[in-house]
Amino acid sequence: MSCIACFIDNNNQKKLKKNCFGLDRFELKLKKYKESFLDEIKKLNSISECDCEFKNNNSNYVKWTDSFLEETLNNISVIEDTFNDIITIYISYISENTKTATDKIWSFLQKNDLLNETESGFTYSTIYFRARINDNTFDKSDINNFLHIPFNKRGLVGNQRFSISGQPMMYLGKSIYGIEKELSTPINNLAISAFIPYFKDFYSKKYFTIKNTLFDTIAKTLPWIIAKDHDIDYYDSLLTPNRNSIEKDLKKSIFSQILTFPVENKGSFIPEYVLPQMTTTALLENNFGGIVFPSTKNFLAMESHNIRSDHESNFTVFVNYSQNNYYDKAILKNLLHFTFDGNEKLNYSVNEILDKFEAVFELNRKSENDYFVSPLINLKLQIEYMENSKIEGVKYYETQYGKIELEFYSKVANLYLRKIIK
Ligand SMILES: [Zn+2]
Repeated sequence: MSCIACFIDNNNQKKLKKNCFGLDRFELKLKKYKESFLDEIKKLNSISECDCEFKNNNSNYVKWTDSFLEETLNNISVIEDTFNDIITIYISYISENTKTATDKIWSFLQKNDLLNETESGFTYSTIYFRARINDNTFDKSDINNFLHIPFNKRGLVGNQRFSISGQPMMYLGKSIYGIEKELSTPINNLAISAFIPYFKDFYSKKYFTIKNTLFDTIAKTLPWIIAKDHDIDYYDSLLTPNRNSIEKDLKKSIFSQILTFPVENKGSFIPEYVLPQMTTTALLENNFGGIVFPSTKNFLAMESHNIRSDHESNFTVFVNYSQNNYYDKAILKNLLHFTFDGNEKLNYSVNEILDKFEAVFELNRKSENDYFVSPLINLKLQIEYMENSKIEGVKYYETQYGKIELEFYSKVANLYLRKIIK
């Protein structure tokens, strides 16, 4: 038995997608995925009757999710249409040409109003990590060694889900654990840097987010809203999420699921990458600054983290070509950046870091500039979300991943302290 929350959860969707493996054409896999998505959704029960981790007996929550489920079943055609539209775009790519298909993906995003829901600047105002294999040939304390693959070495840019072979971009990850997975290289063999986008920059640039909006709404946002406002009504159009937003949430989630379809066979052409790469191209053509997308790696070894943590998130910043430089140096104007200088002891405790943050908050209250605070609020939240998580029985902040993150957090706090005091 399943409910809407455990059905739309990424792990369950991954299972449904992997059940389509074995079919010899990607378009057939997409059709089979559509069928199983529809079959399963028709069999869902109330969250109050499910025995999954999302079970919640709050009567308002149950009422809201029951109304949502009922309304979804009345609108099965929205789900069918969304799948069909995306499958048609893929078929256009394989039967017509890239240009036609890319234009179609753009008009799909426009027609369904999926482009305007860019994240608020606050969401991005946090730390992201970037690593490269440490072959001892470069200075690890120089941030210039951590930018994108240089323009004269574009031959090294391989085919990735959200990037096109030969097109350098700057890949960032939300957690060190995720970075290790993305690079398939043990953490001890990596040199690591960290970046914080300037808050202000995110009001002037557009970023696109691929995410499971429906799951976020039902499992992350809604319980939080209901705990604050007990009377939230699914049919009340003033508060989101609601009946009007849910159609868009559903479309965005299906789009996100299809774009993160697991790869069955890695060849020189990877059909699972066609739709994500065309999306990237369309965003580039239309002056977006980058794209945020969930990792498709397996994070199941991590337990007990707060559901609101987004340690699985990746962020790609598009770079601008320079004729005179090997790098798009202008990118550093929009980012605070941090590297290791060799003096790191990697022994901070969570409490020591939280004390440092408190010192910044305290000083900041007395200063006139509150521009420092938003990244620290986000980092503090991230610590709360991850504090009880464990990997193979070891608490996250006692693992090498967590220790590296805390070391960077300390650098951030130190920088802010210096800036405020100055
Ligand atoms: Zn459930």
